[in-house]
Amino acid sequence: MNSKEELSTLCGLTKARKLKRIPGPALVSTAILIGLCQVGLAQAPGSAPPSASASDGVTLFQNVRIFDGKSAPLSEPANVLIRGNQIEQISRAPIPVDRSATTRIIDGGGRTLMPGLIDAHWHAMLIRATPAQAFGDVGYNNLTAGDEATDTLMRGFTTVRDVGGPVFGLKQAIDEGIVKGPRIYPSGAVITVTSGHGDFRELTDLPRTIGGMLTRMEKLGGSMVADSPDEVRLRTREQLMQGASQVKLTAGGGVSSPFSPIDVTTFTEPELRAAVEAAENWGTYVAAHAFTPAAIRGAIAAGVKCIEHGMLMDEATARLIAEKGIWLSMQPLPEALRLGFPVGSVQRAKADEVFPGIGRTYELAKKYKIKTAWGTDVLFSRALAQQQGAILASLVRWYTPAEALIMATSTNAELLALSGKRNPYPGKLGVVEQGALADLLLVDGNPLENINLIADPGKNFLVIMKDGTVYKNALAK
Ligand SMILES: [Zn+2]
Repeated sequence: MNSKEELSTLCGLTKARKLKRIPGPALVSTAILIGLCQVGLAQAPGSAPPSASASDGVTLFQNVRIFDGKSAPLSEPANVLIRGNQIEQISRAPIPVDRSATTRIIDGGGRTLMPGLIDAHWHAMLIRATPAQAFGDVGYNNLTAGDEATDTLMRGFTTVRDVGGPVFGLKQAIDEGIVKGPRIYPSGAVITVTSGHGDFRELTDLPRTIGGMLTRMEKLGGSMVADSPDEVRLRTREQLMQGASQVKLTAGGGVSSPFSPIDVTTFTEPELRAAVEAAENWGTYVAAHAFTPAAIRGAIAAGVKCIEHGMLMDEATARLIAEKGIWLSMQPLPEALRLGFPVGSVQRAKADEVFPGIGRTYELAKKYKIKTAWGTDVLFSRALAQQQGAILASLVRWYTPAEALIMATSTNAELLALSGKRNPYPGKLGVVEQGALADLLLVDGNPLENINLIADPGKNFLVIMKDGTVYKNALAK
């Protein structure tokens, strides 16, 4: 028995007899003190186990022109060698490989090799479900979310930052190779206040008592209501315990929730600060949903590191975001989303208020050189999710194709890395460079010249690789 087994055995009540083989009680108490006796010795939440599909296999892309995720134009024709889940070598000269059965050679034919795409504002559990279904059968919702995760990967999105929803199980299943899907940076439940954005309770659920019964929404882990700094701290820590890589709060009103007007500021500064402290104690950060200058400023004052949306910001707030080095996680929301809310509904009125701010905010973000991440925020619509690449391509209203693609690869990856020690996938994402994680797309054409190629991934993404594993190869005979 090696020492690891001995210590593991200490935690198993049924194997207590083996304790006698361990020299002295000192080791027992040491094991307990240093926390080895985790229940069931489970994989620590958040840390990705080695993917079941990752292998020591070797893939060689020959004759590809590289968009490295950081700059245009494409490279001269080159060769890229992947070993295991990393890019080992990039070279213009031929790379010799042994032509054994474990080596896969892909002739790129001069096509474009680029990093896998990243969506920085995604809700993996809330795409296929209708709002009513989201409160319904957990098994059904997980299965449909798994199917959607596969579609997401097949659209070339190899990573998503999930900013709200009970996504921990899906992430685990993907990491274990049970379901095909993107890497997921989970936030877990959105934390909100009574009446805030994300409070989807009915009026008949009121009043709420602190410490009282949880509602269906909370039991599912979709969002948690917190109405004091202590409650916020508790709910934040619960998400971290489950493996959240970052924590998501709503600092102001939102479009889709029934009881939060857009103009309201929700959490108090001490409440937001409680979440920031708890997240920072875990080496990570808080992202806050906020539209208005007041909500954005309150969040920044409390130590929030990333503003989600920000679409009603003014010039002074844009300057503040830039000066403080705060991230802006923006979405070029499609008109179809606004038009999807019935005329006369509360949600439609709120969408009408927010949508004109999209263009203005992108202009401010450019003017003040704000660190800007890109995401979609698709909710409750499989059809819109299928437009994920098209929504990215729509950024060319404000950016060049290269700027848009840099945003959705290396820039988004920088935001992901803000999760520090809670990063479930340590390693470089969003770039094609030596030592980076091998999340790669082979594109039939040059997306820097024609960004609309990414709007039709089924046709134009010939190879999709995540973590060194090929999930699609349309070139294979
Ligand atoms: Zn969202």
